[in-house]
Amino acid sequence: MTSRTYDVVGVGIGPFGLGLAALAEPLPDVDAVFLDQRAGFSWHPGMMLDGATIQVPFLADLVTMADPTSPYSFLAFLKATGRLYPFYVRESFYPLRSEYDQYCRWVADRLDSLRWGRRVVAVEHDTASDEYVVTAVRSGGPDDGERETYRARHVVLGVGTTPRLPAPLADLAGAWRAGQAGPGPVIHSAEYLPHRDALQAAGAITVVGSGQSAAEVYRDLLEDVHGSGGRVGYRLDWVTRSPRFFPMEYTKLTLEMTSPEYTDHYRSLPADLRDRLGREQRSLYKGISGDLVDDIYDTLYRLSALGRQVPTTLLTDTEVVAARHDAATGEHVLTLRHAQLGREVEHRTRAVVAATGYGAGVPEFLDPVRERLRLDARGRFDVTRDYSVDVADRIHTVGGEEHTHGVTAPDLGFGPWRSSVVLAKVTRREPYPVERGIAFQTFGLPGGTPGDDAPGHGSTGTGRVTTEAAR
Ligand SMILES: Cc1cc2nc3c(=O)[nH]c(=O)nc-3n(C[C@H](O)[C@H](O)[C@H](O)COP(=O)(O)OP(=O)(O)OC[C@H]3O[C@@H](n4cnc5c(N)ncnc54)[C@H](O)[C@@H]3O)c2cc1C
Repeated sequence: MTSRTYDVVGVGIGPFGLGLAALAEPLPDVDAVFLDQRAGFSWHPGMMLDGATIQVPFLADLVTMADPTSPYSFLAFLKATGRLYPFYVRESFYPLRSEYDQYCRWVADRLDSLRWGRRVVAVEHDTASDEYVVTAVRSGGPDDGERETYRARHVVLGVGTTPRLPAPLADLAGAWRAGQAGPGPVIHSAEYLPHRDALQAAGAITVVGSGQSAAEVYRDLLEDVHGSGGRVGYRLDWVTRSPRFFPMEYTKLTLEMTSPEYTDHYRSLPADLRDRLGREQRSLYKGISGDLVDDIYDTLYRLSALGRQVPTTLLTDTEVVAARHDAATGEHVLTLRHAQLGREVEHRTRAVVAATGYGAGVPEFLDPVRERLRLDARGRFDVTRDYSVDVADRIHTVGGEEHTHGVTAPDLGFGPWRSSVVLAKVTRREPYPVERGIAFQTFGLPGGTPGDDAPGHGSTGTGRVTTEAAR
């Protein structure tokens, strides 16, 4: 076991873990190491669609909102790669998704604190030293299977979220993966691109889901619905539980909800109310970009010009309640229920893309320290306002706190602010200024959020951020 004790051991190097690593790097009082099971940085490779852009402005990079002078900013990347003027001339706030991925790889290549090919399998607490001990297994390379341990004062969870399928589709996908449901893929959108050819070859595809990913997959497949380049056409259907194909809300007073103040307010509410609000606020970040909705309409219009039939059905208010494979016909049979009609129909298709979202959970590797975790009645992290998940305020999460903090959790633009709060905990100072208020509007009632009047006394669990740290 190594004798070195790190100030921070980060688990997961997606955008949020990488952002924390980039902000920790210049700090002389932070000795950090970040572990990831992957061989290198890779951002949503299954959805790296040509022409797709990120949904937030380029300022929402890994570091700028915390430190506009950072050498790891998106603008620094553009300058270093000779793309600053083309980006300037392009006059769009929204980088391509592939560009954002390249940018993150560029930053990752410049940080010494990253360790790839390490899957974290356990976090334990050493009572003698009051430190955490993180165990990782090497994956790939000559040391495949070797175990490594890292001692830590603080552990930061940047493990992201995992694809979620509704139960009926999860079973069918499992059967397909086991080779028991014919050739037509049944996959989550996270794996779309590697399966695109097989989907198109299946002859009939059904997309299930209501958000940006569902719309992007539908739009991508719609282009070749009549066949092209020697490939035959196919049927393409889109089924969503949502009452309509609703656009993401981008109006500025709504965007102010992606703020410290709204997060204070949201975090101060009872868990049941937060859960209800979370469902109601879907249009804030789980809708479809308005441009894409219109692009889909325009494509349908173009493809149906000159009297051509477009072999597609778009269904709203409709839920997949059952799914099976019909070996006799080679079809997947989905039972669809319409929410208003209350009626069910059988829908036959030959391939399914479930763009049904992602979910966070309490990683199993924390089982050895479960008694030290803050968990709510549903077994989820009861994340404090300043992102701690253990009783000692020394295990923190960056991402996955949607159920406690709301819309800011998955937002790339809010990553640097959250990292600044966590680094303030680690350093007992504010290496990066933590804005307490950015909005013109007041959330809740004038006079602030409960718990406000206890400044500087550790994490309150509710109310506003304090940066008083317990090292
Ligand atoms: C297709 C898509 C597009 C999106 N676009 C945007 C956007 O434009 N704007 C926006 O604001 N948000 C966007 N989001 C939402 C969100 O920003 C992203 O999901 C983002 O990737 C979250 O980053 P993360 O660091 O939390 O997690 P991830 O990117 O999921 O990274 C988590 C990392 O943890 C590692 N890991 C997990 N468990 C372990 C373990 N036990 N040991 C070691 N490593 C582990 C994984 O290998 C992975 O590399 C998008 C989401 C998707 C799915």
